[in-house]
Amino acid sequence: MENLNVPPANHVKVLGGQGWVGLIDHLGTEATIVNAARVSFGKIKNEMDDKDVKLLQYLIENKHTSPLEHMVFTFSIHCPLFIRGQWHRHRTWSYNEISRRYTEINMEFYTPEKLRRQAESNHQASFADETFEDEALRKMIADHNQQSFALYEKLLAEGACREQARGVLPQNMMVTFWGTVDLSNLLHFLELRDSDHAQWEIKEYAIAIKKLIKPYIPNVAKYFESKGQTW
Ligand SMILES: Cc1cc2nc3c(=O)[nH]c(=O)nc-3n(C[C@H](O)[C@H](O)[C@H](O)COP(=O)(O)OP(=O)(O)OC[C@H]3O[C@@H](n4cnc5c(N)ncnc54)[C@H](O)[C@@H]3O)c2cc1C
Repeated sequence: MENLNVPPANHVKVLGGQGWVGLIDHLGTEATIVNAARVSFGKIKNEMDDKDVKLLQYLIENKHTSPLEHMVFTFSIHCPLFIRGQWHRHRTWSYNEISRRYTEINMEFYTPEKLRRQAESNHQASFADETFEDEALRKMIADHNQQSFALYEKLLAEGACREQARGVLPQNMMVTFWGTVDLSNLLHFLELRDSDHAQWEIKEYAIAIKKLIKPYIPNVAKYFESKGQTW
């Protein structure tokens, strides 16, 4: 049996290598989307021609989203708990995750490579500051992660159950979950999370997902690139 904390073959590392997102599986192609849009004609094509590319872009442009739902992706995501919380707000994904009621092995904790400053004007925002001397603070974060883990292990050693002991683990604990989503809802996720309004860490994952799926949806990517987006 493989270790779920090991990234799948097709993955992109994020957060300085501490996190990753991998593509586990996918269903459908751009041709599937076009076929779904033309299903009423009762004809199926396997290759995309120029007309199909135009139709695909028309569907996106005009928010005719249901044909896009016929293409589906499954990702494995290794991220800090606080990013998982943001991710799981996207209700149109299906999720499954390692249970800390079952296992205490392979625990990892995130330590930011660089601390950002709190923005004053926007309570949700932060900004990079090269002059921020954060080395001692980041060491305190790493120490705190380890102290939390030590307490967790002590609780288990003393006979406490895993489902209660896990309450002392920090938000920096890395979790691994699977997420499956159709292309329409994935594009919505990417719009919200590859955005300067989103937290830097989840934005890293959104950018990585674009890299993973671009080979499967080259004309969709081209459409967004033509609108000035980076893919
Ligand atoms: C920059 C940013 C800041 C945020 N800050 C906060 C915050 O401070 N506090 C907070 O609580 N959340 C916050 N969120 C989360 C946000 O409110 C959404 O929950 C999250 O972005 C998921 O978006 P969604 O509902 O569109 O996605 P999904 O849940 O994937 O839904 C996709 C679409 O399906 C439809 N849909 C899904 N469920 C329903 C439903 N029950 N009824 C009707 N239509 C539905 C909607 O059209 C929806 O847009 C933030 C998100 C972002 C991107």
